[in-house]
Amino acid sequence: MRLFIRNAFPDSSGGKVAVYSHRDLFGRKKFDQIPVGRLINQWHSFQCDAGKPALHQASGGDLLKGNYSDAAVHMMELMGAQLGKGLGKNLQGIVEPPAAVGQTSKAGLGKGKTVHRAAGPPQQQIMGYETEDGVKFGYSGERNGQIVLELTAFDGISNARTGELTIVPDPEEMRPALLWRGGPVGIADATFPHPKGWCFDGFEKVTLDKANVRTLTAIYRSAATKRPPCEQKWRSALDLDFDISRIWSRLCRPGMTPRDFKNYYRYLMRSMLTRNLRQGRPLPANPLAPPSTMCRMCANSHERFSHIQMCDTIEATFQPLAALANALGTRCENDQQFRALGLACGEFLQGTLSDLHIILWKFVIIHMVAVDEEGQRFVPRDVWKAAVRRQRSRLDAHAGRTQLKLIRTGPATQSQLDSWSAQVHPLVACYNDDGSQTASDPWARTLHTLDLTD
Ligand SMILES: [Zn+2]
Repeated sequence: MRLFIRNAFPDSSGGKVAVYSHRDLFGRKKFDQIPVGRLINQWHSFQCDAGKPALHQASGGDLLKGNYSDAAVHMMELMGAQLGKGLGKNLQGIVEPPAAVGQTSKAGLGKGKTVHRAAGPPQQQIMGYETEDGVKFGYSGERNGQIVLELTAFDGISNARTGELTIVPDPEEMRPALLWRGGPVGIADATFPHPKGWCFDGFEKVTLDKANVRTLTAIYRSAATKRPPCEQKWRSALDLDFDISRIWSRLCRPGMTPRDFKNYYRYLMRSMLTRNLRQGRPLPANPLAPPSTMCRMCANSHERFSHIQMCDTIEATFQPLAALANALGTRCENDQQFRALGLACGEFLQGTLSDLHIILWKFVIIHMVAVDEEGQRFVPRDVWKAAVRRQRSRLDAHAGRTQLKLIRTGPATQSQLDSWSAQVHPLVACYNDDGSQTASDPWARTLHTLDLTD
């Protein structure tokens, strides 16, 4: 090394070599004096870092030989191995060592590569094994001819391998684990209670693994809850079997206020003060007239609750709504089911058409009261007109709120427009970019034919 330095650097003197360092302010070259001892040290440490095989190959040696120590090569040769040929009786072994596959560049991990989870091997089943310290969970495997369990730790998302191994002396006792919300809870066939096999009395759909605070509260509450008796009465009154709970969901619509549905609610609960319940008390509007029990709408029949849905005048009141529904593509008949509960051929009216049905009831009842209280006449067209006017103002209010949103948040996305349109469907065909509504043709015709200006 010293000899090499002496030859390479003719001006090496006093055990030092001069190497170029930098230029000073005047552009003159500056040199550093490096002790030869330091260069030799650096050369030795480079040799250690580079490794013998690299140095061997760098000096033009045999490619394979440099990879193994002389002692190893000698031992292999004693056993009949020949360098450059495969191992084995028929030299069938591989010659090149397996290539390491991995990232060698400094690019971000995963760059340019898409890993498809679904394309990977199927996920291994988590097994449970009972030990003296309780049940252990993990993936079964083999190490040195022994069955082992590679333990997992559930972190709330996945069952990560911990790398810890437990020897399984009795592999027969290792059985599939039962997972509950992703984490193992026990050995599947020995866990009690089994979350999927248990449910609450009367709530067969909610198995233990699906129970949460909401369902548990509902189950707890149900013991003290009674279905309103009107549900059964409606079933028998209409002689129809249908999902009665849906009559309540019609009342919970965006923009539907108690002002709109509280009158209909009285009708649904079958708690209206019909004339047969007045028990001979005189009418406030006409105290001198003999108390009448005849229908205040049609005057052709005794007024009792069951008469209302059959009354000819009520039928006439609901006729324009049935026509509108048919024009909007909802096949329906103006029958008792339709008038009473908004059932169009067994299906409940949808969206704003359903709202209009409820609002129409609001005005039916307002006008019924007005007959008795103020001595007015019940005119189906007036009732229909009042309902249409109210529905129109509700749709206008919806458009107003939508336009306010647009002012606040800027142009709407298509999905926002779709969602707003769905809320006012089917009377309104769609919302436009500027927050205005395009009424459906039948609804536009209805508004046009009724003179709503007064
Ligand atoms: Zn009547």
